Amino acid sequence: MAQLAVDVTGRWHDGDVSDPAELLRSSGFRATPQRQMVLQVLREAGDRHLTADDVWRAVNQHYPSFNRSTTYRVLELFSAMGLVQQTRLGDGVAHFEAVDHPDRHHHLVCVRCGTVQNVPADVLREISVRLAERHSFHIGSVDLMIQGECAACRRAASVTRRA
Ligand SMILES: [Zn+2]
Ligand SMILES: [Zn+2]
Repeated sequence: MAQLAVDVTGRWHDGDVSDPAELLRSSGFRATPQRQMVLQVLREAGDRHLTADDVWRAVNQHYPSFNRSTTYRVLELFSAMGLVQQTRLGDGVAHFEAVDHPDRHHHLVCVRCGTVQNVPADVLREISVRLAERHSFHIGSVDLMIQGECAACRRAASVTRRA
């Protein structure tokens, strides 16, 4: 069975992100409360897709000195460490998600209305295992965005066509 760690990039660590504070320290960074809160905010985002500004606003409520550029730097650091993943949703804005987000998923993006539907990450499990085996490839992260038309837009389009 091919080794599979779909949820993490594994760049600086071996897939264990259970203790980000420890991970930060072992990588030579201070685990400040602000940095930990950035992760917390992303983990608790649920179905929402947060931009750097969303993260900044949430952390700033508790730490007023935490400014925008610090937010960007922390998100960049976390991306490099494989704690956070940037996700494309087709709108040109970077969205951020924690790699250990409890509801790991991929995205179906409607090109008409921009609605984003989450698809559980495990739908890709089988194909990931097959790709890993066929190419002897250790899969780090998978970021899948599928663009198309959502059900509501397709219904609306078919009504227009009939009228
Ligand atoms: Zn998402
Ligand atoms: Zn739509």
